[in-house]
Amino acid sequence: MNSPITLKTTVSQLQGVGSVYQKKLEKLHVDTVEDLLLYLPRTWEDFSKITEIAKVRPPGTYCIQGNIWSIGNKRSVRRRMSITEAIIADKTGTMKAVWFNQPFLIKNMKQGDEILLAGRVENEYGKILMKSPAYEKKSDEQTHLGKIVPTYKETDGLSSRWLRYQITKLVKIIYSFKEYLPADVIKNQSLISYSAMIRQLHFPDNSYQLEKAIDRLNFDEMFLLQVAVQNQRKTLDKNRAISVQFNEELSKEFVKSLGFTLTTAQKKSIWEIIKDLEKPTPMNRLLEGDVGSGKTVVSAMATLMVARNGFQTVFLAPTEILAKQHYESLKKMLEPFGVRVALLTGKKALLPSVIPAPPSVIPAEAGIQSSLKEENVKSKKSVEAEVLKQAKEGEIQVLVGTHAVLKEDIDFWSLAFVIVDEQHRFGVGQRAKLRQKSGSDGTMPHFLSMSATPIPRTLTLSVYGDLDISVIDEMPPGRKKVATFVIPPEKKEDSYEFIRQTVKKGRQVFVICPLIDDSENMELRSVTAEYERLSRMVFTDLKIAMIHGKMRPEEKERIMSDFATGKTNILVSTSLVEVGVDVPNATIMIIEGADRFGLAQLHQFRGRVGRGKYQSYCFLFTDNQSETVQKRLDAITKTNDGFKIAEKDLEIRGPGEVLGERQHGLPDIKTQNLMNVELIKRTKTEAKNFLKKNEVNDFPLLAEKISKYDGVANLE
Ligand code: ADP
Ligand code: MG
Repeated sequence: MNSPITLKTTVSQLQGVGSVYQKKLEKLHVDTVEDLLLYLPRTWEDFSKITEIAKVRPPGTYCIQGNIWSIGNKRSVRRRMSITEAIIADKTGTMKAVWFNQPFLIKNMKQGDEILLAGRVENEYGKILMKSPAYEKKSDEQTHLGKIVPTYKETDGLSSRWLRYQITKLVKIIYSFKEYLPADVIKNQSLISYSAMIRQLHFPDNSYQLEKAIDRLNFDEMFLLQVAVQNQRKTLDKNRAISVQFNEELSKEFVKSLGFTLTTAQKKSIWEIIKDLEKPTPMNRLLEGDVGSGKTVVSAMATLMVARNGFQTVFLAPTEILAKQHYESLKKMLEPFGVRVALLTGKKALLPSVIPAPPSVIPAEAGIQSSLKEENVKSKKSVEAEVLKQAKEGEIQVLVGTHAVLKEDIDFWSLAFVIVDEQHRFGVGQRAKLRQKSGSDGTMPHFLSMSATPIPRTLTLSVYGDLDISVIDEMPPGRKKVATFVIPPEKKEDSYEFIRQTVKKGRQVFVICPLIDDSENMELRSVTAEYERLSRMVFTDLKIAMIHGKMRPEEKERIMSDFATGKTNILVSTSLVEVGVDVPNATIMIIEGADRFGLAQLHQFRGRVGRGKYQSYCFLFTDNQSETVQKRLDAITKTNDGFKIAEKDLEIRGPGEVLGERQHGLPDIKTQNLMNVELIKRTKTEAKNFLKKNEVNDFPLLAEKISKYDGVANLE
């Protein structure tokens, strides 16, 4: 091969990379020299310290240097293997080393060779013995031993030893990776250059240099993320939004009408949202709080302010059932103030039951004067058309719906506010569409996303850095803790008996079936089997129903409403089905195969009970007795704090799992970095300073890196 090696040279052109290795590298997405150099080590072993044989104290791991006195193969008949034995000597003593089933080693190592060995040393009948050590002949430039050596993620037949051998040659040839970080950032943070980082990661000169290289690597990872999310926010803030004025009198009346006092956390959240609504730039806020913490009330108050200012709100829920429920509760809370609430989903359209009022002046005393009762309504199509018409003419102030609202080309009279419940369940494209639903005057609506999935604080500071966050971390008074237990198979009978007693007292029960890959068919089978088993063999005398994702929406709705009204005792459901419907009479939550769910998810399920005045229970069924599983499940029995649970989940399962669908396009970021508060603060501040003075687009290499983060946790 004559042409000089560059970063773009394909690996197949390198010496020692035949088609076999090329295929193996391809699996790791390594096609070019650049890819190979960017295939960074996972860990390092410090073999820089050479110990004199006399000072070796078994057991322990050592690197020694000496001469081969003797080397040879022998066969162990009893153990049916070949053993290579060598005696090594340095000026302080001798030591034996053995290797198993590698007879070819005697071709690489010969008597008299000066050699380095590293590995675990054991005591064998009073003598020291090194078992299967790594080896390398002494030379001017060591690759594998006598220094800090990298360990790569290895795949079948592709060893760290081979990778080191290839990469060491390349590192010598390739000096300059283009620096993409702004010079100021490098200076402020005392970082080493990008090229130096790559070189030092593969072949550190010493532990200090390695530390600097790792520091740069971690800094970059989190800094890029910070620049990406903060830049998204910067772009967003360039838009105009309608400024909504706060009406104190109205807020007091609203609170009075609720019949309960708001928790401190609710008040704080409302205040934060009100402040955002007053601003002429769009709100981009996440309202977090466990199921039942009272998010809907908070959003209703904000909606009321928007309506009183003469503007419209769209409220989106991920499922028909939830949309209907939100519609009902918003109607109840807002109609007394003359706010007209309508529903539009794929299956249903409902008009408000209040006489239309001019949008700009909604008198609080408008009251309920039902003119358009549901029963007056003819076909769905005509109601839908009427809803659309009224939205356009401004006669509806709040439109509740599912994504069907997005499919329609709805024109709004003056849309100022978009609320999305559990927004991560909407696809990215759908979310983009939400944002485009702006008012006629080119403003962008304020955006509030609500979620019952607690996000660890470190993630809200990093991945969700473009969001402002309000947290309801306090339950309305009087809620009892859900008593949670891990139930092994032998105790299952007892829990069934407990269920029977509880149902006799008039309470109800949820049963969640185990998660089975992502296949809906498997899910269906699992939920059906569990339903059959429970109804035929366990609770023959009770009314059991089942619900799953494959059912038609009307069917699901009927089953849910039968359960909500107490017609059925037990509801068997898949994890995918939204059981967010409020059933205060349900007091037991059974989770089959609990070990297959993440902690945050289990916590979510648990939130479905304990919503009424009765003591509630959550039983985690599992036949997995492994210590890690038991420890994990124990964690959830001990705490009710969703945030603590989420942190634990992040630690155990990593960000991909925790972020779930939200992590669209999230590049591979180390969990360890995502949990490192200090690193997050450091990169956040640096990114902020950078963006204050600069535009990302003036730094093309940086912009290119950032583009990989497009849409990360983005509400657009
Ligand atoms: P979330 O949407 O967070 O799951 P909701 O807003 O649906 O919670 O509230 C759950 C229930 O608690 C509702 O019936 C609501 O009326 C009630 N609620 C909300 N806030 C309070 C409060 N501060 N005190 C008492 N009950 C409340
Ligand atoms: Mg809710």
